[in-house]
Amino acid sequence: MRGFRRVLSYIRPYRASLAGSILCTILFTIFSGLMVWMLMPTLETLFGTSPVISVTAPVTPGEPAGGETGSAMDDVSGGTSGLQGVKNRLKNATRNLISRPDPKDSLIRLCLIYMLVVLLKNIFAYLQGYLMAIAENGLIRDLRVDLFDRLSRLSLGFFEQNRTGVLLARVTSDVTLVKRSAAALLVEFIKHPLSILVFLGMALVISPPLTLISLLILPASAWIITRIGRSIFRRTGRMQTEMGNLTAILSETLGGIRVVKAFDMEAYESARFAGAAGSYFNKSLRLARIRKLAAPSSEVVATVVGIGILYLGGVSILGGTSTLTPDEFITFLIVLFSMFTPLRELGKSYTKLQQGLAAAERVFEIIDTPPTIVDSPGASPLRDFTGAVDYRNISFEYEPGAPVLTGIDLSLRKGEIIALVGPSGAGKSTLADMLPRFYDPIAGAVEIDGTDIREYTVGSIRRLIGVVTQETILFNESVARNIAYGLDDFGMERVEEAARAANAHEFIMDLPDGYETFVGDRGVRLSGGQRQRLAIARAIMKNPPILILDEATSSLDTESEMLVQEALEHLMKDRTTLVIAHRLSTVQKADTIVVLEGGQIIQRGTHEALLAEEEGLYRRLHTLQFQT
Ligand code: ATP
Repeated sequence: MRGFRRVLSYIRPYRASLAGSILCTILFTIFSGLMVWMLMPTLETLFGTSPVISVTAPVTPGEPAGGETGSAMDDVSGGTSGLQGVKNRLKNATRNLISRPDPKDSLIRLCLIYMLVVLLKNIFAYLQGYLMAIAENGLIRDLRVDLFDRLSRLSLGFFEQNRTGVLLARVTSDVTLVKRSAAALLVEFIKHPLSILVFLGMALVISPPLTLISLLILPASAWIITRIGRSIFRRTGRMQTEMGNLTAILSETLGGIRVVKAFDMEAYESARFAGAAGSYFNKSLRLARIRKLAAPSSEVVATVVGIGILYLGGVSILGGTSTLTPDEFITFLIVLFSMFTPLRELGKSYTKLQQGLAAAERVFEIIDTPPTIVDSPGASPLRDFTGAVDYRNISFEYEPGAPVLTGIDLSLRKGEIIALVGPSGAGKSTLADMLPRFYDPIAGAVEIDGTDIREYTVGSIRRLIGVVTQETILFNESVARNIAYGLDDFGMERVEEAARAANAHEFIMDLPDGYETFVGDRGVRLSGGQRQRLAIARAIMKNPPILILDEATSSLDTESEMLVQEALEHLMKDRTTLVIAHRLSTVQKADTIVVLEGGQIIQRGTHEALLAEEEGLYRRLHTLQFQT
């Protein structure tokens, strides 16, 4: 029930709408009850089944009421005269409202009252629904925003362990299920019990003994529903896991659609998706099998009890022992059967609630996941970089027992360029990722100006570092917004200046809307070289003192390559750069080249010095990698 309370806590900001909605629900229910109650005067007016009882004379001749001529059934309840009195007074009040000497006039009054009641009932139904929609949709918005906020703050490691599609499903599909449970919680758990109470009250007023018998429905239905509910909770979890798989395949295929097409794998991917859709179908059916049982089984129980009452009441009417007039008995039956609807709906709401709680558990699981890279207590902001970045005896592993970096010592002084080279999987990217605290080392420390970076706030470190990765990530926004990403106020002049320095201005001006052109998802409307130059312009715009550069390995054509190279030179000028180098020109320009292999530094020095080491890895790599 923790999930239940958590969902409720999201409703708190909307308590005014909620209170309004509850009030409207109460009024709606009262008017619904009134509609049924009006049946008695209607039957009376049309068929004259019951003689008029005056308020001053509660028991009129001919009406076997008041308990004096009560049947054995009336005796069961004992002390019903109070309720009889209430019944008679209510009946009289309604009669006085409707009854006119001419029955036609009574009928007209009756019709007018019906119209008024229906109108009011439906106005309250509308208001209740609308006010509830405010609370419900607000709750879902807040939950989604919180979920997204948490997701965006989680550390990189989390995203490596969870498939994007599965996370997408939590933000979309699971949250929608929570919405359904919220609706169940908010409206239905007030509306249906209230309707049941109103109908129960009316039934009690009409005939206490028959009402007592009909109460048998409640424990029987409750037993069925709670049993079903438990099963629904489990099955919903399984179904939503399948939904996660489905979304994951969808997002992977759409994200990699070029590769899918290039490898002619459309049919394979379709089959994979169909497989996941099939599993989802099976899990949904398993859920439906039990969920759809709730309403019919509780209806069967209720109807059996109803039929029992029809029989018992009928027998006593036929035997002439009934204390009820025919209009009372018919109304009682209608009241009873009217009570079945909210009872059945309550069962359905309970199943929805169980579904929602299962989904809520999955949503809160993410909201409750703590980010692993956070500001340490007492962390202070890093204001400037003046001296050096030092890696001190750094070791790191992604999986326990599988070291990726061991005993790394490295110093990068202000203004220097250090080039990291080494075979694939040597740990170059991991080493670079330690500096902006994408990962924390398991031993040793990275220091900026002699202080462990964990003593600084994460945000302040990252503000001083620019990262240009191999894969240029652009957002589907305007070119200008992409260049100024992360900056609140920026002048177009600065954007243009950065674009010029990154050799991007010319091609931007050729785009249909210049700097206002939208670049498409991940920048698909641009060429590889153009995307890279935009990413470089973005880094120039940020103007960080420290730069981490992962040079793109994919080769561009000579002209594009030259433009990118020039842009990079502008970018590196007057900065301190750690570069994962794939280009000869970069390694030649580096102050120090660090050669990594198997997570350890095995060589370091200038290009010339390392080339001179005949048996060194650098010389071999140089022949393979850089001499093209
Ligand atoms: P490349 O030049 O191919 O990009 P690299 O030198 O940058 O390689 P890293 O990406 O740092 O190498 O990876 C170093 C090692 O860590 C590799 O063996 C890799 O398989 C492993 N590794 C990288 N990322 C993860 C991860 N998220 N989880 C587990 N292992 C990882």
